[in-house]
Amino acid sequence: MGTTWSASVVDPPADAEMTIRAKLDMVIAQMSNWDADSVISRFNRQPIGAWMTLPVEMMTVLRTGMDISRLSGGAFDPALGQLVGQWGFGPHVANEAPACGSAATSVEVGDHGARRLADVALDFSGIAKGFAVDAVADALRALGAANFLVEIGGELRGAGVKPDIQPWWVDMETPPGMALPPMRVALSGLAIATSGDYRRFHMAAGKRLSHSIDPGTGAPIQNGVACVTVLHDSAMMADAWATAITVAGPGKGLSLAREHGLAARMIVRTDNGPREHLTPALEMMLA
Ligand code: AMP
Ligand code: MG
Repeated sequence: MGTTWSASVVDPPADAEMTIRAKLDMVIAQMSNWDADSVISRFNRQPIGAWMTLPVEMMTVLRTGMDISRLSGGAFDPALGQLVGQWGFGPHVANEAPACGSAATSVEVGDHGARRLADVALDFSGIAKGFAVDAVADALRALGAANFLVEIGGELRGAGVKPDIQPWWVDMETPPGMALPPMRVALSGLAIATSGDYRRFHMAAGKRLSHSIDPGTGAPIQNGVACVTVLHDSAMMADAWATAITVAGPGKGLSLAREHGLAARMIVRTDNGPREHLTPALEMMLA
């Protein structure tokens, strides 16, 4: 899915690496828009109105994506694949303006599958890395591993401690060129995800076009958010919320984070340099 992974496992069970690879292959086979034969790619080619049975893992991600879409007032939208394509961040370059429609109104989710109600395309790039981190962590635990750090494309989850009995200390990601004091968190039983406009972007007429797209305007965000980091028990939730809060922006995004008790940090680009906001839940965690 255009990203890298790494894992540090203390006293690794014999099958650890094979198990991790199998989990990642499963996520790619189901949820990669870059693979034309993946389940998500086939779903996106289904005739409008036709139900398709989906694997349970994909149902979990789809349901969670729809939930976060609803909770974020549509800032997160797992069905904006066509917009992602239009702005050049997906595997397909779409030239015409895509059909409008959000996940909330354009995808119907049933017990074991889903169907498109309009010509939209699912895109799980804002949530699937987190799901994969959780899947790998669960699989490692099932093998008997208790102490590990898993990372996929900058989303991390830690369990237990390092061999020196220290927790898995991780520095929150900071946009390149921003001089901010490092912020360290201990990832024991916790996941961290960061969305940022420096991760993937194009420059056009001197402007930064972020890969975070505002479904409200149909265009890359222009809200000044440089990055959002979320800490959560679930890497999938951290990933989806980081994307949602980035898109919702400094006002609405931060109030969403507070409303849902999320431990989050937002860095906003202002004329006077970067401005950092921490939610009360994060301040408590760092205290
Ligand atoms: P992340 O780095 O987790 O914030 O994910 C960014 C990716 O999610 C983009 O490359 C798009 O494929 C997709 N995306 C962009 N905007 C949104 C949005 N508003 N809701 C859900 N996914 C999005
Ligand atoms: Mg995300």
